[in-house]
Amino acid sequence: MPSLRLADRMIMKILPLLLPSMFAVAQEATAQDAQCAGERAAMVETIRARSAAGIVGQRGLSERVLEAMGRTQRHLFIPERSCSIAYADGPVPIGHGQTISQPFIVALMTELAEVAPDHVVLEIGTGSGYQAAILAQLTRKVCTIEIIPALAEAATKTLGDLAYDNVSVRLGDGYGGWPECGPFDAIVVTAALGEVPPPLIEQLKVGGRLVMPVGAYTTQHLTVVEKIAPDRTTTRAVAPVRFVPFTRSKN
Ligand code: SAH
Repeated sequence: MPSLRLADRMIMKILPLLLPSMFAVAQEATAQDAQCAGERAAMVETIRARSAAGIVGQRGLSERVLEAMGRTQRHLFIPERSCSIAYADGPVPIGHGQTISQPFIVALMTELAEVAPDHVVLEIGTGSGYQAAILAQLTRKVCTIEIIPALAEAATKTLGDLAYDNVSVRLGDGYGGWPECGPFDAIVVTAALGEVPPPLIEQLKVGGRLVMPVGAYTTQHLTVVEKIAPDRTTTRAVAPVRFVPFTRSKN
């Protein structure tokens, strides 16, 4: 068909013009990933060294959690995609007044949740989607709830682009949990509240753990609640932390 031939001719003309810039973009991406790989490996060593201080018990952080941290491209979850910012052991602003937690805290919460490959996990506070991505590599299914629409949308896109197919993101107030997705083997809450929401305990399986910063803004403790019977829990405070507040929808 003449029109096809015309299109072919156009492509032949445009391609030589496009190829060098496509090549340059690919080269840049590879160079950035190589740089990031070094910074990511250094981040894992920093986390490993910090965990030796005893906060996670005698054993420190498990290798499977450290490996997931070492594999996950944290720089793709933050607005500027800067490696030096992403892999420093500090929190990073993600817009809308929210932050992605520092890598050590992400690793610590993941460890304390004691997740296993067949587990179904609930996260409250999707934010950038980074903690969900770590959990997704260590479990069967992750359901995560975010209250800020723009963050829920961005995290859905990032997780989709990176092919984290076992994560579902839902927009809403996570106080009531997500019963249709549960019951859950573990629940990770990444925003601070004065009390543990009762619906979350209800949706936790017996033997499961909920990890959450509990307390007012200035005096929060990373807390582990274990459900030891249908109507019994044990609670222990692990470390003082500072998280953004758990907000409530007005509906
Ligand atoms: N886990 C995130 C960090 C999130 S910061 C990450 O890995 O990037 C805490 C997040 O909790 C914020 O995005 C905030 O908007 C969200 N949040 C606060 N209150 C909430 C609620 N009631 N329900 C769901 N998300 C909430």
